[in-house]
Amino acid sequence: MADNKIESVLREDRQFDPPQAFVDGATLKPADVDALRKAAAEDHEGFWADQAREKIDWHKPFTQVLDDSDAPFFKWFADGELNVSYNCLDRHLDTKGDKTAIIFEGDDGEVEHISYRELHARVCRFANALKAKGLGKGDRAVIYLPNIPQAAVAMLACARIGAIHSVVFGGFSAVSLRDRIDDAEAKMLITADGNYRGGKLIPLKETADKALSEGCKTIETVMVYKRSGADVTMADGRDVWWHDAVDGESDQCEPEWVSAEHPLFILYTSGSTGKPKGIQHSSGGYLLGAICTCRWVFDYGDDDVFWCTADVGWVTGHTYITYGPTACGGTQVMFEGVPTYPEPDRFWKMVDTHQVTIFYTAPTAIRALMKHGDEYPQRHALDSLRVLGTVGEPINPEAWMWYREVIGQERCPIVDTWWQTETGGHMITPIASATPTKPGSVAHALPGIAADILDESGAPVTDANAGGILVMTKPWPYMLRTIWGDPERYKDTYFGMFDAHTYVAGDSAQRDEQGNFRILGRIDDVVNISGHRMGTMEVESALVAHKAVAEAAVVSRPHEIKGECIVAFVILKNDDPSDDLAKELRDWVSEQLGAIAKPEEIRFADGLPKTRSGKIMRRLLRTVARDEEITSDVSTLENPQIIDQLQAKGS
Ligand code: ATP
Ligand code: MG
Repeated sequence: MADNKIESVLREDRQFDPPQAFVDGATLKPADVDALRKAAAEDHEGFWADQAREKIDWHKPFTQVLDDSDAPFFKWFADGELNVSYNCLDRHLDTKGDKTAIIFEGDDGEVEHISYRELHARVCRFANALKAKGLGKGDRAVIYLPNIPQAAVAMLACARIGAIHSVVFGGFSAVSLRDRIDDAEAKMLITADGNYRGGKLIPLKETADKALSEGCKTIETVMVYKRSGADVTMADGRDVWWHDAVDGESDQCEPEWVSAEHPLFILYTSGSTGKPKGIQHSSGGYLLGAICTCRWVFDYGDDDVFWCTADVGWVTGHTYITYGPTACGGTQVMFEGVPTYPEPDRFWKMVDTHQVTIFYTAPTAIRALMKHGDEYPQRHALDSLRVLGTVGEPINPEAWMWYREVIGQERCPIVDTWWQTETGGHMITPIASATPTKPGSVAHALPGIAADILDESGAPVTDANAGGILVMTKPWPYMLRTIWGDPERYKDTYFGMFDAHTYVAGDSAQRDEQGNFRILGRIDDVVNISGHRMGTMEVESALVAHKAVAEAAVVSRPHEIKGECIVAFVILKNDDPSDDLAKELRDWVSEQLGAIAKPEEIRFADGLPKTRSGKIMRRLLRTVARDEEITSDVSTLENPQIIDQLQAKGS
């Protein structure tokens, strides 16, 4: 009974084929995708080797493909040599030197078009400046910059000289910055005086000074880009202005040729699940993933204007701003500001102004903009759009349908891309030109990616719609190589559950009858009520489908009889909170999913605790729902004050 009801809701029957007009205009045809899948299934290593020869310019060709002799420490193309910045810039100069690489729009609306030739010159000048300050191959530079082209320039300049960058999101506090600098033992910090976001000054240099006032003993130089014009203190002998450092430097810089396995960057995960981990990526394999996924998933071609709204401080900004689009020789938009400033139509206005064809954003942004109503997108012509993408969290079917109907005007395929900082690029996702899509489904693993669902004993879960542990059963070129300075933690975290060839993602998932994957959430977020295991996502999606609800987060709390029960935190669109509405919502969930899923308690809130990248931190909500003391670090929260409010409401 209740059981069947839950299952029926999991069976999403709306399905949308890629429109014929889209397929006709696509670079990658369904038959090409079939051919890729077939090649990958027949010969995993051979497939990736072919892709690597075709899509990367090698200084010295590789002869080895996969080396798994020290699993789970895998190597790909290890004896090959390349330079990532060469692949992103130099190789386009002959044919695309004047093509726009980056269309930058500042917070205040200023627009700048940067060609490949100009970007190359800026990267070379800055690379020379870094070398002049003693930064060399293998040294770490922490980049703490706004989402401006100089961030991409700094990253590519590090790549050019073989230095390893670690970008720290500009919204992070002094303590978070200090921890990351110390963990990476960085020699240089690259920052800005400050910048404006949503009209508010972000005092980056001031925060950096706080970080540097204690610890950070390894920092020798601080490069400061002048962006806001704010007054800053420059420490003698340590701090240098970016413009002074590049003054007189040549716009040519011979790339440092490195092994494919040379670390390109370290990136600390956002910390939704605990102490940040320094995820270390390679040069060759990572670059290959960035190129393949841009081409396949988005059908990114020469005439496209691509816009990934992420910040370069996240892996999405690494792969789908700095590296993927430039390695493909494409044009992209980069935006410094926020979606709601000066008004909630900023994204849609920019889509029209810059004639964006591929738009890639996060569910949190979609839900927030949806809450503001259709009138904002309707103010602008969105007919340049071809493909829509989403990443970061499971997207509720309600938000997916709004994205499809109101933004994509039923014309654009939606690619819901599942991946992680650790995976380096897309893993399980529809391919825009070839995959029928369903709300809430991430479809299939990409060619060359071996995804499966296992139960706790390690046996594959074969029943449709049964949940389990999401794993990758084969290494892939763009996977992380280790956790910086902590190989044991790498082994335990990702390969500790089954064996050295089975990567455990930390998420739970299920497959429908056609084999489409659905991500249920973090393994830890699954609730167990009277023996029924449920993803929090299902209950949240049911709540968001109610007309009064803008956003919801669901966690569990121990219950004497049921084992666990559900507590739901709900943000309303317009209505005022009331006991009647709480009852209505509890009954609503019960109708949608069955009595078993009925929340024990509904707590209304003005906001939900989120990471800086916009993900709901259910771990904290669980603590709040259980009236326990919060002992974990909340400093990386977007909105720490919300915790006090939620706790107050509970008591
Ligand atoms: P930490 O690992 O420190 O807790 P994080 O997991 O939030 O941080 P990311 O690597 O940015 O850091 O996020 C990856 C996670 O985001 C995935 O494991 C998954 O839980 C979620 N996720 C990303 N994309 C999707 C998607 N399309 N659908 C569902 N979940 C997604
Ligand atoms: Mg994670």
